[in-house]
Amino acid sequence: MDRSHFVCHIGERPEGCGHRPRRCLLKGCERLFWPRRPQARYCSEGCQQAARRWRRRQASRRYRASDTGRERRRDQARRYRQRSRERQTASADVALLDEGQRPASPSEDFQARRCERPGCYERFSIKHEHSCQRFCSVACRMALRRVLDRESRYRARRRHRRRAGMSKRARPPDTS
Ligand SMILES: [Zn+2]
Ligand SMILES: [Zn+2]
Repeated sequence: MDRSHFVCHIGERPEGCGHRPRRCLLKGCERLFWPRRPQARYCSEGCQQAARRWRRRQASRRYRASDTGRERRRDQARRYRQRSRERQTASADVALLDEGQRPASPSEDFQARRCERPGCYERFSIKHEHSCQRFCSVACRMALRRVLDRESRYRARRRHRRRAGMSKRARPPDTS
């Protein structure tokens, strides 16, 4: 009987691997792999590095965004001070006219966000600046959800084992 199609395409479980195969978290890879560490998220060194690159880029973008935000706020404050100085000398209706020509609101920056799934460079627009949307798609959201759920289950199991081990040690020695 031909059993070749029963063999998983990622190959046999490597010796010493006590985990089930999982999917690489990196967007665009998503290959099945045998995790070597319980917390492994990526199938290979290459994907690990791609994820690191993605994180660095994400971080520098966030830094830049907060930088331009700061600059813009400073600019606005300066304009405001200037306006109120002018207002003191100008007539009331000129000040009103000035009021109508406000600079673009700073919340414009919040209309586009970047997906938080490692390896995803997709941008998406949000409906309002307090939106909690963090992913470009359901697929990206589910991919990260799967990983975070697995990792929290793993941590809970470890905590449980540690507690169980402690209570065993705390029991008085068997003297019967
Ligand atoms: Zn991968
Ligand atoms: Zn995405």
